[in-house]
Amino acid sequence: MAASATKAVASRHVATGPGSLLERKLWRLGLRDPADFIVHLPLRYEDETHITPIMSAYPGAAAQVEGEVKRSEVQFRPRRQLVAVVEDDTGSLVLRWLNFYPNQQKQVAAGKRIRARGEVRGGFGGYEMVHPRITAADTPLPQALTPVYPTTDGLSQVSLRKAIDQALARADLSDTLPSEIRDRYHLMPFDQAIRVLHHPSPDISYSQLIERGHPAWTRIKFDELLAQQISLAAARAARRRQRARALKDDRAGLTQALRASLPFALTTAQERVIMEIVGDLSRSFPMHRLLQGDVGSGKTIVAAFAAARAISSQSQVAIMAPTELLAEQHFQKLVSWLEPLGVTVTWLTGSLSSKARKVAIESIESGKAQLVVGTQALIQDKVNFSNLGLVILDEQHRFGVGQRLDLSRKGEESEGSLDMIPHQLSMSATPIPRTLAMTFFADLDVSVIDELPPGRSPVLTKLVSDARRDEVLSHVITEVRGGSQAYWVCPLVEESEALQLQTAVDTHARLVLALSGMRVGLVHGRLPASEKQQVMQDFRIGSIDLLVATTVIEVGVDVPNASLMVIEHAERFGLAQLHQLRGRVGRGSRQSVCVLMYQSPLSAVARQRLRAMYETADGFEIARRDLEQRGPGEFLGVRQSGQELLRFASIDTDALIAERAREAAGELRDRYPEHARAHLDRWMRGRQDFLRS
Ligand code: ADP
Ligand code: MG
Repeated sequence: MAASATKAVASRHVATGPGSLLERKLWRLGLRDPADFIVHLPLRYEDETHITPIMSAYPGAAAQVEGEVKRSEVQFRPRRQLVAVVEDDTGSLVLRWLNFYPNQQKQVAAGKRIRARGEVRGGFGGYEMVHPRITAADTPLPQALTPVYPTTDGLSQVSLRKAIDQALARADLSDTLPSEIRDRYHLMPFDQAIRVLHHPSPDISYSQLIERGHPAWTRIKFDELLAQQISLAAARAARRRQRARALKDDRAGLTQALRASLPFALTTAQERVIMEIVGDLSRSFPMHRLLQGDVGSGKTIVAAFAAARAISSQSQVAIMAPTELLAEQHFQKLVSWLEPLGVTVTWLTGSLSSKARKVAIESIESGKAQLVVGTQALIQDKVNFSNLGLVILDEQHRFGVGQRLDLSRKGEESEGSLDMIPHQLSMSATPIPRTLAMTFFADLDVSVIDELPPGRSPVLTKLVSDARRDEVLSHVITEVRGGSQAYWVCPLVEESEALQLQTAVDTHARLVLALSGMRVGLVHGRLPASEKQQVMQDFRIGSIDLLVATTVIEVGVDVPNASLMVIEHAERFGLAQLHQLRGRVGRGSRQSVCVLMYQSPLSAVARQRLRAMYETADGFEIARRDLEQRGPGEFLGVRQSGQELLRFASIDTDALIAERAREAAGELRDRYPEHARAHLDRWMRGRQDFLRS
């Protein structure tokens, strides 16, 4: 998709404001053109196609009854309420309103014939309906199930239905799939699928409709996934047409100098991925590469090489981390690696004082800052780079799609009319199975570090019941006496951040008491940034022996002298999280231990998780089991999975449809470009932009 086309689509949606109140509400739902309405599909349906005799209505089910109002009165006990009794040939039913308007009272005046619809419940005086919907009796019954649509405040189902039906009458429902493809995958024609879903006849299986297993749903999901696949391919092609600065000089000899200054030799895997990255950087279209490597595999130094290369080619580099703690640590490392080689490294996070912030921003804008390390603050609007050539995202899975998008726009702005896009390198320790990545991810190339630096002995993992807490404490003492350091991770309290914080503070206090003479520090997310930095610095230089921490230390923290990790209530953590936490130790040459304390009894799932931790230290194997236990949707997290672009299909249940859609996408593009274009027009409607991130 050319950038200009994308913009044209987007601007269609903001060009003119909507007129009437109804239009404004519809707009809020994203409904403007007939094409928007036809794919605004029901959440569920109500069956109003027949009248239930009162005798056959039973509690727990919705029913529609018709009859004469026998009695109608406002009662005051136990509170003010409107009560009416409706009767047909088979029996009678109480209708009850706990609050009501005068006109409702008129609707059910004694002697009127009415139709009432609602859920039947057992009451004191027999069956009743609370707040039923009343319509006039003896009007024709609908022939199809009544759709219930997703709606917004103040927009009734009746108005929404009417608007959708009007749009359906006007909309173009022509098929965007050639019949050859439709036949091959046994897909229902588009117009038929749309009509079925908006107005299903009552003989269609309700569960197939609701669980989206009906062929009409299959067609819709296929279409949606197909659009996604076509856009992914188009995004890739578009990226190749975009321009980026080719970063191929190493005039300053920076990478050579960096290599020479390191106290260790790079692993073969590190060398290989550096080559892949350098290859991408030297091309004149933007790199989009994901670097995967298990915790501790040494991704940061790879990032430093990429940065050195870009800086050597006279470009600025931005490195972004999801937490301040991690950004700070990167900053220190990069300073120690690159400043001696003459590189200016700047630091920018949200918590800088306004004066320091101003200085940082000036040096970024002037181009003096060659390497900028920071948090999300880097993508804030006020920061303009002078010549940003490379953007590096660490722990990429922690960033949302929207944020990643903003960052890649930064470079566009800084180059003004030249329309240059910065190269982008993302790093993640969460391995994504290849097929999953290909099916659901934005346009990405993948590099993998599949080897740990030498000399690491695997972390010994112990499962210890809470009851043996004292033993764990003496283990901490022994370890610290032997000159190493330890982490103590506080239990996770999902429900409340305040409670989580309190738990951390309490845990710290208890440990200080229990371990007198030991230097015990505390770090958590709510600590002011400067204190956080101070604590981490103290731990790094060894003036704290035991660091009590929340999961703020989960990602990236690197203190090689720490050789013991205790995780309290390990059963509350997810597998990936436990693996990340355990990855904080085993970074030095000393034998490291990870103690997973748990509270009995364990649920079956928790037991499985802890066993996986005990049985393997391989991040890819852990990810495989994690995927098995949680399913791909949860595993990937909706934010990065592209699921947010999918309204109807699901990563978890529609893998097979996705596979077919991927197959068909290539064919449609090559053999039926007109169809492909029409298909995208129908399905993407201005959202293509997201796929660039
Ligand atoms: P991660 O991939 O988890 O981000 P880091 O980049 O934090 O890993 O690296 C973990 C530790 O390993 C760091 O202390 C780093 O300096 C060290 N390291 C990286 N590469 C090597 C290597 N080739 N040989 C020895 N140590 C290395
Ligand atoms: Mg890291």
